[in-house]
Amino acid sequence: AKGDGVREPLGYMSSMETGALEKKQFENHLWNAFQAGELEVFYQPIARSSDMGVTGLEALIRWNSPELGYVSPAKLVAAAEESGLIRDIGDFVLDRVCQDMRHWPDLRVSVNVSPMQLRDPSYPAGFQKILKRHRVKPHQIEIELTENVLIDDPDAAARKLAELRKLGVTVALDDFGTGFSSIGALRSFPLDRIKIDRSFVQEMTTNPESIGLVRALVAVADSMKLEVVSEGVETAEQAQMMRLCGCEYLQGYLLSRPAPVASIVELLEAAPPA
Ligand code: C2E
Ligand code: CA
Ligand code: CA
Ligand code: CA
Repeated sequence: AKGDGVREPLGYMSSMETGALEKKQFENHLWNAFQAGELEVFYQPIARSSDMGVTGLEALIRWNSPELGYVSPAKLVAAAEESGLIRDIGDFVLDRVCQDMRHWPDLRVSVNVSPMQLRDPSYPAGFQKILKRHRVKPHQIEIELTENVLIDDPDAAARKLAELRKLGVTVALDDFGTGFSSIGALRSFPLDRIKIDRSFVQEMTTNPESIGLVRALVAVADSMKLEVVSEGVETAEQAQMMRLCGCEYLQGYLLSRPAPVASIVELLEAAPPA
């Protein structure tokens, strides 16, 4: 067994220390990559479930690193939150979205906003500034937040969201059904839409009991007068099930994987938004 006075030779690092070092190195790498312009924004369509007409797009960050290969956005975002870089990345994504908006002036684009961005004292003034610079109207943008924004200072978060909504920005609650907030807490929160987490959609095809669960989530949304988007719809069967559950919008590989701006322009030309 380890311990019992047996010490690692001096100069070795504990696994905790190497973990911290690796994290720091990854953060540095990410910072350099961001400065070097290696980060990209992909888009994934969101469509009406009734006729599959595209009504919006979700912007998703991508990092294909020459050294590390494809880095998952989840890992990237976690590191960026840790280092604070997420604020700059958030501004970069919004700026890119506003630039790309000229390709689809009639669609609403959703951007993911992390709790740290929302907490920033310059939010949402900085957000508005970016929109103004590109002459993008607030109603062309939706922000997606998870229940994590409720953890710290829900009142401050609610105030900022109310401010944005007054301008015309819509607010969606991401990953609905996976958090631990009470319905009561959500009720007092200024929202327009909820996005049912992909895990429920995936469950539905294998476990019929989860259909009841999805119906319940949709009923909660209905009672709060919120629209419902389903994430992660991969098959026609899943799309039909979500339709029957009363879900108004669909997003997932069935429609399209997240793709670069040029591919989305092509896709929209082939199937113009209704
Ligand atoms: P999310 O906001 O829940 O985004 C949906 C995720 O589901 C995306 O993963 C998307 O590529 C994936 N997805 C979409 N349709 C399907 C499908 O049919 N099947 C499956 N299996 N997956 C599907 P991605 O792009 O890896 O992003 C992961 C998470 O990283 C996002 O989850 C979001 O929380 C975060 N993220 C991505 N871009 C940004 C960003 O610009 N800012 C912030 N703060 N977070 C971001
Ligand atoms: Ca999202
Ligand atoms: Ca989500
Ligand atoms: Ca998710």
